[in-house]
Amino acid sequence: MSGYQTEQKDHQTEKNRQKAAGSGYQTGERKGLRSDCHMHTEFSTDSDAPVRDMLEEAVRRGMDGVCVTDHLDLDFPEDEGLGPDAFQLDLDRYFRTLTSLREEYRGRLDVRIGVELGLQEHLGKAYQDIAREHPFDFIIGSLHLVGGTDPYNREIFREHTDAEVYREAFLETARCLDTVGDFDVLGHLDYVVRYGARKAEEYSYRRFADEIDGILKRLIDSGKGLEMNMGGIRCGLGVPNPHPDVLKRYRELGGEIVTVGADAHRPEHVALAFREGADILRECGFRYYAEYIGRKPVFRKI
Ligand SMILES: [Zn+2]
Ligand SMILES: [Zn+2]
Repeated sequence: MSGYQTEQKDHQTEKNRQKAAGSGYQTGERKGLRSDCHMHTEFSTDSDAPVRDMLEEAVRRGMDGVCVTDHLDLDFPEDEGLGPDAFQLDLDRYFRTLTSLREEYRGRLDVRIGVELGLQEHLGKAYQDIAREHPFDFIIGSLHLVGGTDPYNREIFREHTDAEVYREAFLETARCLDTVGDFDVLGHLDYVVRYGARKAEEYSYRRFADEIDGILKRLIDSGKGLEMNMGGIRCGLGVPNPHPDVLKRYRELGGEIVTVGADAHRPEHVALAFREGADILRECGFRYYAEYIGRKPVFRKI
């Protein structure tokens, strides 16, 4: 992680930003990326971090706001190591805890309540019901399974080349966008590359341009955003997910909504590489990043 610094809070007095009531462009604020909109806590199967530890770290690193986005992957395949309830979420307890913390941190940190839904083609109706029944600020839709298996386990890479798996992941993402509608941004578009046998050696935007364009066009047509997930840097790819070439292409095609998240599962990763992230977005042609409040994008100057 060395070499990637996060910004320390420098001007407390500049925190007099407007509270956004709906979508719109916010100006007159501090520059840089100030909202980490993807993080996991003890509510996620793969994190032990107390929510409060994550929030304290966000304050320490100068964030104005965070969105907690714990995992909910309905119909996640059974995994011996993870137990029967892997990636399920007790939404009542989740909202109770986060609502109370949101009040406690008011004035220090804007705490928003989100979720990261694991996309599968058949889950459109089930996720629509969940989204309607709970007052989320923000919903990330992410592909966590390729052909029904978790690429994190690497099994799929024993029987298929990296390129075959990446292509299938992109095609499956596009199919999910046709059948699952109720989310705001697509999470970590090319994260499957993190787990390939040779990682990015068999990957570039150009190589999968048709498949990736199919995803980007669907996002734009449906008014959804794209996430820049800094976890790619934490995992050693050297770039976020998706690759900056993909962010650039999204912009070229007319995409405007980019949220930013470190995908931290531990406090030390909150707002990871956000300074580099701001540079990448600017180089890709963006002047604003977005965060969601009450499921509506609010644009903030980079
Ligand atoms: Zn994810
Ligand atoms: Zn995540």
